[in-house]
Amino acid sequence: IVSPRASAEQLKDPDQLIDSVETFIFDCDGVIWKGDKLIDGVPETLDLLRSKGKRLVFVTNNSTKSRKQYGKKFETLGLNVSEEEIFASSFAAAAYLKSIDFPKDKKVYVVGEDGILKELELAGIQYLGGPGDGEKKIELKPGFLMEHDKDVGAVVVGFDRHFNYYKVQYATLCIRENPGCLFIATNRDAVTHLTDAQEWAGGGSMVGAVYGSTKREPLVVGKPSTFMMDYLANKFNITKSQICMVGDRLDTDILFGQNGGCKTLLVLSGVTSLSMLQSPDNAIQPDFYTNKISDFLSLKAA
Ligand code: PLP
Ligand code: CA
Repeated sequence: IVSPRASAEQLKDPDQLIDSVETFIFDCDGVIWKGDKLIDGVPETLDLLRSKGKRLVFVTNNSTKSRKQYGKKFETLGLNVSEEEIFASSFAAAAYLKSIDFPKDKKVYVVGEDGILKELELAGIQYLGGPGDGEKKIELKPGFLMEHDKDVGAVVVGFDRHFNYYKVQYATLCIRENPGCLFIATNRDAVTHLTDAQEWAGGGSMVGAVYGSTKREPLVVGKPSTFMMDYLANKFNITKSQICMVGDRLDTDILFGQNGGCKTLLVLSGVTSLSMLQSPDNAIQPDFYTNKISDFLSLKAA
């Protein structure tokens, strides 16, 4: 990985950054909220950027909710954000399938939670699997053969707290027995922060299980892949150099911005510390870093 710059610069003049871009893409967890808790100063910062005429877009790799469900979360946190400004990896999976004209007579097998099912439904795409398959068990009697629906044309895998052997085997059969079956991953985050107390296995663990049994590389639609960036640039007709991607994670958010040719700002309010950023082991350097997005309010040009 080669970053556009050798080392990140501490953000000293936010006005200059704000003036140089027309759109801010915000990652959600670690930037806007931490779990269910709003990060300090976020409402005022978003208001300031809106008052300056900036377009705001919110992108999350967390596929467990649909954009409508995220809309409710923003509302509950007192943030004035519309569904149309939210792009979750659950939505990205459905948008990708729509973009390739996924056949109406084909189905998607889902290893994941409710958000993916809701987005597929809205896109008019048939699906099976999802949380309900978490109850299913395989009875390994001699000669037992597991059947699968031959109309499955894509397997979508995301973070799944009801993950089990049934689902891996079902997804594996779909992919292995039909070379044309797509394998789509919402994201490959290694870890996630379900609680503050420790790091939890992320969506990459479920994707890794299906990769392990099929040896098929998934097509990732979440960060850092370019799919969502291209989708956004196209939808809003934005020039990518006019975008600043703001995130707390180097290997998803900052890489996502850099892969798209955008400006990048790392905030230290999430999973990355200053020492991680400055470690010789880290090759991903954003353009700028700062503690939290509300620094936009308080910093003045030096
Ligand atoms: N996936 C899951 C399951 C999560 O819980 C989280 C964060 O809470 C993420 C992904 C990363 O989300 P984001 O891209 O908003 O940081
Ligand atoms: Ca994040």
